[in-house]
Amino acid sequence: MTLPGFRTDLSYANELDDADPLGSVRGQFVMPTDDAGNETLYLVGNSLGVPTRRSLEYVNNELTRWGSVGVRGHFESDLAWTTYQDTMAEQMAALVGASSDEVVIMNSLTVNLHLMLISFYDPTPKRHKILIEAHAFPSDHFAVESQIRQRGLDPTTSMVFVTPRDGEETLRNDDILAAIAEHGDELATILLPGVQYYTGQWLDMAAITAAGHAVGAKVGFDLAHAVGNVPVELDRWGVDFAAWCTYKYLNSGPGGVAGAFVNQRHLLDSSLPKLTGWWGTNKATRFQMINAFDAIPTAESWSLSCGPVLLFAALRGSLDVISDAGGLPAMRAKSVLQIEYMDRLIDDVLAGRIRSLTPRPIAERGCQFALEVIAPAADGRAVFEALEAANVSCDWRYPNVIRAAPVPLYNSFADIHRFVAILDELLP
Ligand SMILES: *Cc1c(COP(=O)(O)O)cnc(C)c1O
Repeated sequence: MTLPGFRTDLSYANELDDADPLGSVRGQFVMPTDDAGNETLYLVGNSLGVPTRRSLEYVNNELTRWGSVGVRGHFESDLAWTTYQDTMAEQMAALVGASSDEVVIMNSLTVNLHLMLISFYDPTPKRHKILIEAHAFPSDHFAVESQIRQRGLDPTTSMVFVTPRDGEETLRNDDILAAIAEHGDELATILLPGVQYYTGQWLDMAAITAAGHAVGAKVGFDLAHAVGNVPVELDRWGVDFAAWCTYKYLNSGPGGVAGAFVNQRHLLDSSLPKLTGWWGTNKATRFQMINAFDAIPTAESWSLSCGPVLLFAALRGSLDVISDAGGLPAMRAKSVLQIEYMDRLIDDVLAGRIRSLTPRPIAERGCQFALEVIAPAADGRAVFEALEAANVSCDWRYPNVIRAAPVPLYNSFADIHRFVAILDELLP
């Protein structure tokens, strides 16, 4: 326990906010409002983060520059569009525990999952299975299914699943490791989430990677709900590949540009299958228009197209705010306190009416709570709608969960207090 003298009154939340070193960061964000202009209680950064003022400024700068210098913008200034993403490489790499050579910012998440599976799912007659979770995010499921079909294989035999035990909502790490061992030398690739989108469970990525490698499989993670939320050490854990979107905890805006990671031991492997484009070839000769692919010796060789500069600019604004705030260590330190605070408020104020499916131990979760309404005579979906009507943004995920995430960059302890107080009033 890290919250001495815990109390349920608002003044305790205010005391925590007064002591919060990240308290002023909220001022760098534009918070949504309702139609009457009242600030929304925004707890849905797990789905779409809010814009930083800097993102608005940076995007506007590039639009203005486009209008003033036209095509010269590709090469002129420190922020030339052809190399714009280089300015963010270090920041992005730090968030996933990688070197900047191992990270590329491109496309969207599902596209990057496909590009990574092209390279890291190389089935043989014997070793042809991909292991994912039974309740994977649909896009991940579809990507895997279609990759298997694309190789002339059958998902009913080549796609294998880990699932929670009967009566349980979350996965047991031991069950995942047992499934990996069970499929053994038939397992080509493992694709699991860092943090599960529905329950908020943070998997033991290091142990899964080691177990996958022990049977000779490639191991990749979808970091959609992990990046900017929990500490990730892709390089140290030896993960083969990863992909993530940036519009959730990295606040890059709807449809923002995504990231991908390729472990350094694979970067120079020219035998890896790969889909290629002109943005992956040697920058020094790219514009000589020679049709001989000369792979950039970094993860950038997976790049296909000239980059979406307006999306880069939006992301860069947020990454600058994150860096100035002290990066993930500072965010996670606050998040750990917020998680405990919200747990204890739910225990004290909402016991018997709300249950959290998210694992309780801090090493198994990020900032997202998966809340189930268990109050007799209350309907979860109706409670969610009443929250929306009360100017609270969280989200509903079928079949039965209200997801709410206090995001340390812009949510206060008072926000958490208000959320629980509103639920207390709404619930019978
Ligand atoms: C958010 C999310 C996606 C969304 O994919 P896009 O390609 O960005 O639309 C996919 N997978 C997971 C696990 C997610 O959480």
